[in-house]
Amino acid sequence: MPVCSRLLCPIYDETLSSWLARLVLGSFVDRAAIQEHIKAHFRGVSGDIDALVACESFTQPFEPFFSVHSASVFRLPDAPLLMFNSSVVYCPECLCGDVANNQAPAWRRSWRIQGAAVCLRHESPVLLKRVQERRLNYVNKAWVAFEEYVGSPAMRLQVNFALSSTSSYVALAENRFLLRLVARTQQWLNLQLRQGNVSELSFNSGRFLMYLWLWRDISGGLINGFASQYFRPFPVRRYRGRASQGIGVDAVFDEAEPIHLCVAYWLLGVAYGVISKHEADLIRAMTRSTTWLFPVDREEIAERGCIAMDKEAVMVVRNEAREQLCAEELEQIVWALRITT
Ligand SMILES: [Zn+2]
Repeated sequence: MPVCSRLLCPIYDETLSSWLARLVLGSFVDRAAIQEHIKAHFRGVSGDIDALVACESFTQPFEPFFSVHSASVFRLPDAPLLMFNSSVVYCPECLCGDVANNQAPAWRRSWRIQGAAVCLRHESPVLLKRVQERRLNYVNKAWVAFEEYVGSPAMRLQVNFALSSTSSYVALAENRFLLRLVARTQQWLNLQLRQGNVSELSFNSGRFLMYLWLWRDISGGLINGFASQYFRPFPVRRYRGRASQGIGVDAVFDEAEPIHLCVAYWLLGVAYGVISKHEADLIRAMTRSTTWLFPVDREEIAERGCIAMDKEAVMVVRNEAREQLCAEELEQIVWALRITT
């Protein structure tokens, strides 16, 4: 595969597919040639172009110019990841920063981590967004996201949540505070829980709690968990012809809106003391929901988490928990599922 005599340097935390896209867009490599090269290696990585970093025969043509493989740049995080095709969550600040620096916008590896709700690379955490456009490929994705963002009302709105404050100055401060609580719990889940440092909750159980609060009914999303309806309640279900079924933990994370993840992180943080009772009271006072009072302790979280769904859906989630978690993990979260043992 022909490549130029010099290559673009990767941007910090960039994915392999994003770097390849910038090589194509900057005419450093021929698009057809790189397509062929990707196609030849595609099967071994189930369609995940970012995972080709581990494939030496793929990275070999770039080696004379840049040590793609040995530099361990592009290596994917060691955590559950969004599917490559579902990886449409991005940080608008990072993309705008790239363009302001005269670079093509780059996709970051940290956005591929399941449950990523905020970007931590800024002075204050930034809420991630989802690309709405569906006709995406690895070459156009970052530009489509950037253009979607600059053309959207979100570009002009500096507050991410429905807040009770009437002063814009106070609302901005509250918004920052609420995002910091999300960042704190997101890091706690990805560091402390994943490393097994929390005796009362495993990483699996923590993910399952998030799943419970983000739960979605497979038949069209008519039933939703608490976190998915706190800011924007869904219409009450009138009739459902068949039994509920959850869409599954991975699919819930693949499809979750970052703002819904924020609510799930607040619940998780409050339940396990990552967010204090005083801070939980502030979340309740600051956020505005037409349907719910934000729960400020485990008992309220368990109660509202179950009331948000109907009885049948709660039974389904309980069964999913019994099937997917070991006895010890299930025991850790029976409080949230209101299972009496
Ligand atoms: Zn960012």
